[in-house]
Amino acid sequence: MQVDHDHKLKNLLKEKFGYSDFREGQREIIDAILAKKNVLAVMPTGAGKSLCYQLPAIHVTQKTVIISPLVALMDDQVAGLAGRGVPVSKIHSGQSRDANVVQWRRFAGDQTNILYLSPERLMQPRMIETLQRFSIASFVVDEAHCISKWGAGFRPDYEELSKLQGLFPDAVISAFTATADSATRADIVGKLTGGNCTVFVKGFDRPNLSLRVLPKQDHKKNLLAFLDERRQQSGIVYCLSRNETDKTAIFLAENGFKAIAYHAGKSPDYRRDAQDRFMTEEAVIMVATIAFGMGIDKPDIRFVVHASMPSSMEAFYQEIGRAGRDGAAAETLMFYGLQDLVKRQQMIFNGEGSEAHKRREYKRLDALIGYCETIACRRIALLSYFDETAVKCGNCDNCLFPPEVEDCSDVAKFIITAIMETGQYFGVTHIIDVVRGDKTAKVKARAHDMLGVFGAGAQHSKQVLQAIIRQLIATAALNVNLEKYGALEVAESGNNIFLGREKFMAKTVSDALLTASKQTRTAKASAMAVAAMPQRNPDLLAALKQLRLHLAKERSVPAYVIFADKTLFQMANDTPITEDEFLAINGVGRAKLAEFYHPFHDLISEFNASADG
Ligand code: ADP
Ligand code: ZN
Repeated sequence: MQVDHDHKLKNLLKEKFGYSDFREGQREIIDAILAKKNVLAVMPTGAGKSLCYQLPAIHVTQKTVIISPLVALMDDQVAGLAGRGVPVSKIHSGQSRDANVVQWRRFAGDQTNILYLSPERLMQPRMIETLQRFSIASFVVDEAHCISKWGAGFRPDYEELSKLQGLFPDAVISAFTATADSATRADIVGKLTGGNCTVFVKGFDRPNLSLRVLPKQDHKKNLLAFLDERRQQSGIVYCLSRNETDKTAIFLAENGFKAIAYHAGKSPDYRRDAQDRFMTEEAVIMVATIAFGMGIDKPDIRFVVHASMPSSMEAFYQEIGRAGRDGAAAETLMFYGLQDLVKRQQMIFNGEGSEAHKRREYKRLDALIGYCETIACRRIALLSYFDETAVKCGNCDNCLFPPEVEDCSDVAKFIITAIMETGQYFGVTHIIDVVRGDKTAKVKARAHDMLGVFGAGAQHSKQVLQAIIRQLIATAALNVNLEKYGALEVAESGNNIFLGREKFMAKTVSDALLTASKQTRTAKASAMAVAAMPQRNPDLLAALKQLRLHLAKERSVPAYVIFADKTLFQMANDTPITEDEFLAINGVGRAKLAEFYHPFHDLISEFNASADG
């Protein structure tokens, strides 16, 4: 029996998805769903969640409803499944009424067994009634964190899903998310299944991603230095705002990079085109807001840079998670500065939501600040946030170049004195001016040049003082009071430092002044040790990508729906000719073979002939 079951699942995996093996965690989750257990699976982006619910849905002959909040994501998945020869229906507000009716008829008439639905469509009384007449065997809730008020992307229409279990007592409910801390998980499990649920937390460690944080000083220069050493690679540079995105893209283009700006302010056509170029051309840099990345399945993204600080640890993890999906070495770099930190706090402060919600958002941000300021292994900081344990990774800046700490109590005391003597009413810039003894207009207007502390730290550069203030904030010795427009205030531990009861150890400044290129050269040497698979036929690869783009445009689907990059890599390496040789390529199943064998076969034969001649 078991052997049979194994065999059947593996066949399905190869047949429909073209893969030979399950990934970490997938098989367990699939088995649980097939055993009719309720499941919550927390797996990071790119770990392969969709296969965990798609495969059981294909495996059983009963009906499955998949609930997804994002129209674009739904469209991608449905196109992907259709491309694999699996008929699927979808109903959402991005389609005309007529189209939705057609889709429904196919599902109701048993032409399809899988229905993608948006939560607001599902929870309409008529839809519920109709679905109750069909025996729905299984509900899948994708992006399940949206159900929880603790979660980052709470949606009221998702909370409605808590009625699902009562309405369909015989159905199995499985929920998937990439981002859920323990409070959020408990909330999802309670709401969807009344606690009757197996929870899986899998695959958060991405050892092939190197982790690095640089202080945001001279960061344009540092960004260029970083990218300059990676001219042949594709990557993403995330920015905070549309404006910063546009400016950075122009700046990079002026410096000879193929940089494309991408944000929600661009037209759909522009964005589609940008995405196509990123998928098919070599060495494109996507300069983007968080609007970019959803559903992007480009396995050979070699770096993700955060030009500004992301909003939370979850967001950060999700964004860096887009790099190195092929398993080869990829790099992450975050620029982190005081201004961004204050801006992020301000965004939470001015944002919507209850006080409790904001407190949680501050905590999320604090975790990220902790990641930035830690002097220990960054991977440990990152994974412990997601409840996975880790050992020192040897692939982050702190492991590779352990930062030195020194006793900075004296400088800290000057800073704290300046804050106290000016009445805890001023932000970073002014405090630094006072400590350094800069006679700015504001200093003179307030007579702060008369204070005893004025100029007491004149020997330190602005950068040094900023670095120390950052670390004082990160260790909660100082608070940023947003009601007072970002005024610095002294907290208890700050007071202890002032009174000499506590020492203040901080990263030394030489570290703060390290530049991007200086660090990367060595980091790169170690990254090379786990470098990507060698590419044998770059010309063939380029031709394969052209063919894919052509086929994608013909069908009006994104390029990766045809074949993933890593499939093309393998084709270029192995130059398959026979059908069996094609089937041996990862990502080629029966359905894809039937549709694409001829064009790809012809191209590779032609290439072989010209290589032989
Ligand atoms: P998630 O939903 O977790 O973000 P996806 O389901 O989009 O991740 O999967 C990410 C990528 O991994 C996709 O290209 C998918 O086809 C691929 N993938 C999933 N499972 C496997 C597997 N067992 N072997 C190889 N590739 C896989
Ligand atoms: Zn480390």
